[in-house]
Amino acid sequence: MIKIDKTDSVHNLFNKMSSESEYIEVYENNTTVDRIIVEKVTRSVHTDPFFICNISEIFRKGSMWGNLLPRIKPFYAVKANSNVLVVKILADLGVNFDCASKYEIDLVLSLGVQPSRIIYAHSIKSPGYIQHAAELGIKLMTFDNEEELRKMKKIYPDVHAVIRIRCNSKNAVVKFGSKFGCDVENEADDLVKLARDLHVNLVGVSFHIGIGCKDLPSYYNAIKSARLVFNIAKRYGYNLHMLDIGGGFPGADDSIFKEITMTVNNALDTYFSDHSIQIIGEPGTFLVDSAFTLACSVTSRKFRSDQWIYYINDGIYGSFNKGTSFEHQFTMYPLKMYSNAELHNSTVFGVTCSSIDKLIDGIKLPVLDIDDWLIFKNMGAYCLSFRTSMNGFFTPYTFYVINENGLTHHGFSECNHRFSKISLEQIEDGIYNFYEQFGVTFCVDRSFGLNSEE
Ligand code: PLP
Repeated sequence: MIKIDKTDSVHNLFNKMSSESEYIEVYENNTTVDRIIVEKVTRSVHTDPFFICNISEIFRKGSMWGNLLPRIKPFYAVKANSNVLVVKILADLGVNFDCASKYEIDLVLSLGVQPSRIIYAHSIKSPGYIQHAAELGIKLMTFDNEEELRKMKKIYPDVHAVIRIRCNSKNAVVKFGSKFGCDVENEADDLVKLARDLHVNLVGVSFHIGIGCKDLPSYYNAIKSARLVFNIAKRYGYNLHMLDIGGGFPGADDSIFKEITMTVNNALDTYFSDHSIQIIGEPGTFLVDSAFTLACSVTSRKFRSDQWIYYINDGIYGSFNKGTSFEHQFTMYPLKMYSNAELHNSTVFGVTCSSIDKLIDGIKLPVLDIDDWLIFKNMGAYCLSFRTSMNGFFTPYTFYVINENGLTHHGFSECNHRFSKISLEQIEDGIYNFYEQFGVTFCVDRSFGLNSEE
């Protein structure tokens, strides 16, 4: 456990996290993560899976948000990835935070972030956690039902309450509507009235349309619904000044994000043209997903019933666990280049003793050898936070990398860093796959072998 000091800078923190022999590796600006992985697996013998955290990608996502959604202050949803360095980098970029528990609150505060930069955005909270937030001066909190509102007012009379409404997109990968959010038509009026009767300082409206939502009308309609609740609140004497549009923004597809931002900005111009209203968002996936890449190797294989069966060194109890909770599409490709390779039916199993630990079957792959590497892109969101340590397979090591431009920002030049120039002698270009030959996207089979006769 590292001891974090509130005044730690990024470089202090990194130097504490790493041993003397570990570095943030600096690469030339145009170096791809695939090349970095090749350099790693050719330079030294790696057998365990590992993550590459590309810090420059976090910078890129942060500035993309700022450029495309200039009215919306991001409050990073720590649940997506609570890696200390990632949280610290985002704090330095001026991003604020959405915390859902005592642990997340304490983590963010331990990094020197002011309580005013946090929203406690879990609409169901234990009394003890509300008390904890109250003692630390975290005023913004969400609620979606009567009991929660009464509890918040009783424990924390000064709370700045934000009413969470249900705006579920049917097309999101994870939907929240059955668990969170009050119904705008049938419940919002009564709740706002109760807030008024209890003298609660109601400050705003929030929603979350669901993780991984690419459906443009859902964003538009959610903002439109929030306007209805602003109007209801006005009738009860409230002049709300905050709209929280939650998360949902995909992290792996820049072009769909751009389309979403156009829709969101358009809806804000239509329903929230008053710029004195503060607009915030709670992006998790968007800010971190593309910054993490996972490399796993083939540890064993069999040929059975006309197909190759591979065993790799991570699995559904580890970095792929989120695939068991929701239909997430993983992107995988072999690192080695297989020219004119014959493709075979293949199954990929995960590392544990559990038979349901299977990533995918029925895919076509070239014949993989023991120690061949498989690369998984966009592994930054919910992969580390959903992991278990089943069978003693712990979190893979993370290599932190940054490009030369990034090094000049945010104190990284003072980190324990090392320039790594990838030379052509180190990498036999022809045999590695820099363009995702044989790439596949897949969802983890969530029948968990129940339909299988084997
Ligand atoms: N805000 C809340 C309240 C959430 O529950 C979540 C995800 O569960 C997020 C924000 C982050 O969502 P996303 O990863 O889609 O950006």
